[in-house]
Amino acid sequence: MADGKPSYDYSPAHRAIEIAAITCLFALVAAGAWRALGVAEGLQYGWIAAAVFTGYVLADFCSGFVHWMADRYGTEETPLVGQNYVKPFREHHSDPKGMTYHDFVETNGNNSIVTVPMMASAWLIGVDTTLGLFLFTALVSLAFWVFLTNQFHKWAHQDDVPAVIAALQRARLVLDVEHHNVHHTAPHDKYYCITSGWLNPPLDKIQFWLRTEQLIEKITGVAAYQDPKFLKS
Ligand SMILES: [Zn+2]
Ligand SMILES: [Zn+2]
Repeated sequence: MADGKPSYDYSPAHRAIEIAAITCLFALVAAGAWRALGVAEGLQYGWIAAAVFTGYVLADFCSGFVHWMADRYGTEETPLVGQNYVKPFREHHSDPKGMTYHDFVETNGNNSIVTVPMMASAWLIGVDTTLGLFLFTALVSLAFWVFLTNQFHKWAHQDDVPAVIAALQRARLVLDVEHHNVHHTAPHDKYYCITSGWLNPPLDKIQFWLRTEQLIEKITGVAAYQDPKFLKS
């Protein structure tokens, strides 16, 4: 907030929804931990840890999938997703630092709106069996890490981050700056995953995104979007 004006440039109503969603999300994480740890016993604590890890890996894939879709399909005019996903992801290539000026709510609000329903739906899963406990915890974990993905992405572009975050980046436990720079090298067609980035090397090795695009084009005739600046002549 500067000069009494809000630091964000979107509607106060959307801002209120973002704050409510972030609050709900933290409440659901606390409730989820309470539910899982309340019924676990013996070896099930190990399964809970495995589920949290699984959610983290899955979140990396989901981040890559959503990012890839926004970069490669649709336009800024596409209903529902054009303005909220396609536009910011594509603008991010030409203005990577832009997102670093967003505060916590603006950075994480939209992702929390998407992940709160996903996390709430986890309560449909019973936790009276080890499998149910694993699936419940994995879904809550997935939603939590998807929520934090934009924060990790923002840290990868910030000039200064807290020492503990820099250490996590160096240890490659969250998205690392140099690693993410691979995606920011034209033509921006690889390394889409932006939570931990762990899945980028193996997916790149099997050319996962390119092959998926070729398959989609073969089946539907729809070619992936390519920024005209990087079209090969
Ligand atoms: Zn991109
Ligand atoms: Zn980026």
